[in-house]
Amino acid sequence: MKTFFIKVFGCQMNEYDSLKVKSILESLNLKEVKDPYQADIILVDTCTVREKPENKALSFLGQFRKLKKEKNLILGIFGCVPQRIGKKIYEEMPYVDIVIGTFNYYLLPYYLEKVKKGKRVFEIWNNYKEEENKVSFYPSPPKGPISYITIQIGCNRFCSYCIVPFVRGRERSKPISLILKEIDKTLEKYPFIKEIQLLGQNIDFYKCPETKISFENALENISNYVLKKGIKRVRFVTSHPAGFSKKLIDTLYNLKEIVMPYVHLPPQSGSNKILKLMKRGYTKEEYLEKVFYLKEKIKDVSISGDFIVGFPGETEKDFEETLSLVEKVRYDQGFVFAYNPRPYTYAATFLKDNVFKEEKINRLQVLNSLISKIGYEKNKAFVGKETPVLITKIEKQDQKYLYEGRNPQNKIVIFESEKKIDFDIYKVKIKEAYPYYLKGVLNV
Ligand code: SF4
Repeated sequence: MKTFFIKVFGCQMNEYDSLKVKSILESLNLKEVKDPYQADIILVDTCTVREKPENKALSFLGQFRKLKKEKNLILGIFGCVPQRIGKKIYEEMPYVDIVIGTFNYYLLPYYLEKVKKGKRVFEIWNNYKEEENKVSFYPSPPKGPISYITIQIGCNRFCSYCIVPFVRGRERSKPISLILKEIDKTLEKYPFIKEIQLLGQNIDFYKCPETKISFENALENISNYVLKKGIKRVRFVTSHPAGFSKKLIDTLYNLKEIVMPYVHLPPQSGSNKILKLMKRGYTKEEYLEKVFYLKEKIKDVSISGDFIVGFPGETEKDFEETLSLVEKVRYDQGFVFAYNPRPYTYAATFLKDNVFKEEKINRLQVLNSLISKIGYEKNKAFVGKETPVLITKIEKQDQKYLYEGRNPQNKIVIFESEKKIDFDIYKVKIKEAYPYYLKGVLNV
């Protein structure tokens, strides 16, 4: 049996795409292997939102140039990087057989056939076709007990620093009927799934193209549907602060039996001046109003966010406003990035990247340490309490097992036990807290 290996460099959207590619390749009777050197096909799935993963992806692919001379190996790249610089890759890396973008990976069976006939494939589309929804006909292979279902793709918002609308295309949502079919197909093949994570670039802007229902209603329909099928948890990412409505918060409250109390709500900055330059479409006050309403309604909610430091024009005072926002929200987790101009974007074209690198790094460290201090304090509040944990990783070590999982607030919880248990939800008593995880004992 022929084998394949997929390497992902990127975000959760890329993760989802590669799981779908795995499903497509398995439908061709190909088998996934963990070692690229054992594979007959190596595919690299790429992200171009930041510069580092982009470079890493290309050098990873370059490693196999020599191997290709020694065996019959197919090399391919897909996703946002070839969407942006596919022609360059095709011309400068002649050993790469398949160069495709973000819109057409569902055609991989056809492209592989072409390669088998001795041709190279270079197909970068400028936009999506409705046929892209065909990926929903394939089940979504889970990671442990969690399956990821994309319900919304692309973005129309054009934040001034972001390349996503240029490489992922305009915002579009999948019909609710198709989402439910995809869930059915997935549960049929993987009946052990316990959690469904709904993915969308800006998920709160979801709108069913058939029924016109909004994200709030879609979440309600999907959650009630999967609850009847034995699914225990639903989560969703990513929320956009402009689309995250009080109605959605009320919906989360009504669905708290199944939708977990965790929201990823990236503010990017706490300064209104910078938010305006970023073209984010909300002010700090509007953001905070939603956060306070969320905390009031869902008392045990945990919140995470993304931040950009050193955006063009960000002064010390602007940065202090971000620190003050973090103090007010008290994030459980945060992902901080130093501003890095990306091609095509408004900021790269019209704004001067005028914060020195050293200053960006300094702000990144200050913000990171504030977030981890708050995260640690919040984690300490779990010590002595029992929390339900969905096991996501199991490792056998000598006579015992090491377990890792997530509690409803999406905190990583680890514990050891001599008992062998499955990918399911168990009560764990928390004994120790750390900035990024909790440690406990199985409470049975
Ligand atoms: S909302 Fe802004 S940051 Fe998010 S994907 Fe769209 S353009 Fe990028």
